[in-house]
Amino acid sequence: MKYDYLIVGAGFAGCVVAERLASKMGKKILLIDRRYHIGGNAYDSINEYGIRIQHYGPHLFHTNSEYVFSYLSHFAGWRHYEHRVLAWVHGKFVPMPVNRTTINLLFGYSFTTDDQVKKFYESERESIGEITNSEEFVRSKVGKKLYELLYKGYTTKQWGCDPSKLSPSVCGRLPVRTNTDDRYFTDKYQVIPTDGYASLFSRLTSHQNIHIEMNTNFVDVPTNRYKRIVFTGPIDEFFGYVYGTLPYRSLRFEFKTYDQEYVQSVAQQNYPNDFNYIRSTEYKHITGQKNRKTTISLEYPIETGDPYYPVPNNNSESIYSKYFSLAQKLQSVYFAGRLGTYRYYNMDQVVAGSLRLFEKISGNTF
Ligand code: FAD
Repeated sequence: MKYDYLIVGAGFAGCVVAERLASKMGKKILLIDRRYHIGGNAYDSINEYGIRIQHYGPHLFHTNSEYVFSYLSHFAGWRHYEHRVLAWVHGKFVPMPVNRTTINLLFGYSFTTDDQVKKFYESERESIGEITNSEEFVRSKVGKKLYELLYKGYTTKQWGCDPSKLSPSVCGRLPVRTNTDDRYFTDKYQVIPTDGYASLFSRLTSHQNIHIEMNTNFVDVPTNRYKRIVFTGPIDEFFGYVYGTLPYRSLRFEFKTYDQEYVQSVAQQNYPNDFNYIRSTEYKHITGQKNRKTTISLEYPIETGDPYYPVPNNNSESIYSKYFSLAQKLQSVYFAGRLGTYRYYNMDQVVAGSLRLFEKISGNTF
């Protein structure tokens, strides 16, 4: 069969572009992935105990984009789910992101108003001129004590370097609150697919013009057969690392099943200062499944392995900009997704970017 497009990577980026090209333009697509399953890092399945687990850690869908939400709603029904996270600090669990309850629990206050907490932050925060990294970002917002209790250890473990070596955007992803809102996200839409992500992905790719080949690596595919390529793998890999490797952070996941209904009070527990793992996730809180057993995953950050997180700092940005310039020169190859654009994007941002890419390719705005 002759294909119009080779799409590399069957995560959100690859599947969304494939779906649009096939259903809106009638293009014939070969979608490949080196893994054994579609869905990229959002892949989930039911384990041997009947519990739905997410193989690459918790994936909470949240967005303010009507456009992205209504597009994905063609392929999934939704369960409304608001994520909550507790961090283990000095022998107690406190809400993350930091809120009034966190401050009261950590420092023994009984603050009841936003104003009291605001004044507390004002008394703690440090005056730092230009913010150039994540440590400065946090200390300028909440001061050294909170930085050391909640941010320094977690960030150092996750990224394998001190927060002072990371761009402000890393710790800037989390809000700092004065109220008692303990939700992790405040987006308008906070959902997970009722039948799981794997089912969302199989609907996304069900068009007859999309042919999928798993366990297939891009390097093993004769690319001269394809007029156009959409590449959602690591951009440095595509160019044979000519400018060196871009830094990525990886993870090792350990799954444990317990013979009891729940082991945590919320879906996610963070461990900023103890243990080698950074967080523990209990999936039944997310999926709402009923089962007398429960499965959790522990995440151990590691140096090498699957590239999960692009590392945002000045060095990686300067390497990426060279690859980006090379990519700009190619007429028939498009780069998309978290790895193809080397951006620490959430799922909704990847979907939005992929829809925009399709608009660019098709020359239409839908
Ligand atoms: P991916 O999902 O990484 O898919 C890329 C695919 O390309 C992979 O399947 C890979 O095997 C394949 N591939 C790469 N190179 C090749 C090659 N050479 N040949 C063939 N195939 C190749 N986002 C949220 O919105 N909410 C969350 O709660 C959330 N939690 C996350 C937790 C973790 C631990 C991680 C790592 C990410 C999380 N994300 C979350 C981000 C989310 O995973 C991404 O935004 C999204 O999955 C990116 O989709 P993608 O298609 O760009 O990349």
